Amino acid sequence: MNSLLALELVERVQMIPLGTTVRIEVNGPDDVDTINRWTQSTGNTLLTVHGDSVEILRGRVTDPIEALAPDKRPGHRLWIYTNFSCNLQCDYCCVEASPKVDPRTITVDEFEKIIDQAKNSNVKEVFITGGEPFMLIDLDERLNLSTKIFPTTVLTNAMVFTGERRRRLENVDRNNLTLQISLDSATPDLHDLHRGQGSFDKALAGIKFAIESGFRVRVAATLGEDAGETESEWNALCDDLKLEQDQRVIRRIAKQGYANAGLVMSRASLIPEVCITKEGVYWHPVAAIDPSMKVQNDWSPLAETISTIKDEYRQHRIKGDVLASAFPCA
Ligand code: SF4
Repeated sequence: MNSLLALELVERVQMIPLGTTVRIEVNGPDDVDTINRWTQSTGNTLLTVHGDSVEILRGRVTDPIEALAPDKRPGHRLWIYTNFSCNLQCDYCCVEASPKVDPRTITVDEFEKIIDQAKNSNVKEVFITGGEPFMLIDLDERLNLSTKIFPTTVLTNAMVFTGERRRRLENVDRNNLTLQISLDSATPDLHDLHRGQGSFDKALAGIKFAIESGFRVRVAATLGEDAGETESEWNALCDDLKLEQDQRVIRRIAKQGYANAGLVMSRASLIPEVCITKEGVYWHPVAAIDPSMKVQNDWSPLAETISTIKDEYRQHRIKGDVLASAFPCA
């Protein structure tokens, strides 16, 4: 070990209080490697590597990934945006989907490659979304590829279960599949206000068709500040449909895409759920067109992509904890 560097590490890291950080200048990767080994053997943490310096935290931190429940850890869920086209144009759509947008479709071949790598990347569940995934006439081929390996959920507005799409859906294996269908209210008013006139009746008909056809259904509402008493009426409708609690989900509107109000998201504040689109990998499906939430252009190799996202999450959490402890107000 470079003895000057070793001396500097001992002097400077031991001078600072536990839980605080110090920046040390480095001359290339050998110094970083030396510091990495030194921190591991002395009970400290190499926090961040910059071009010409590293940041060291005095003491050990709990791995923020290990602190999460297994099903919340990045990479447990893999989201795939199969397309961005939609029969609707909801006024809060987080990805600005509509009938007019470029669909940016993930082809069946591309989808198969993703699933193939997901098998060896410790992914446990696949979520397919869009746009409206059933706009793709051959969506069933992607569903069959995914459900063979993973419990799979497809998010849909259930309005295009007609003609050839309906015939193909009826032939899909139901065993590993959940249809998560959007329904924002128990009556048309609120749902149609945001999603377009007549959409409530078609969505409810789609839900009933899916249940009667033997699919596992989860109903999902997206609610904003104008929701009022909607939630209790919506739950009563779910009771009528004989849906269990784990077949209901209520989400809040995020300030993304078309929405000009709602929850504000950032990479530092959101636990990542790895999300693949035609245009690259995003931190979370709620922000799949937000440039600040784009992680990288290529999803492959998937295991490395997941690892990159985990590393960034670790850095955010550790830095957040260090900052929180460094700024007591009194
Ligand atoms: S919220 Fe869903 S149904 Fe509405 S436009 Fe976006 S993708 Fe389509």
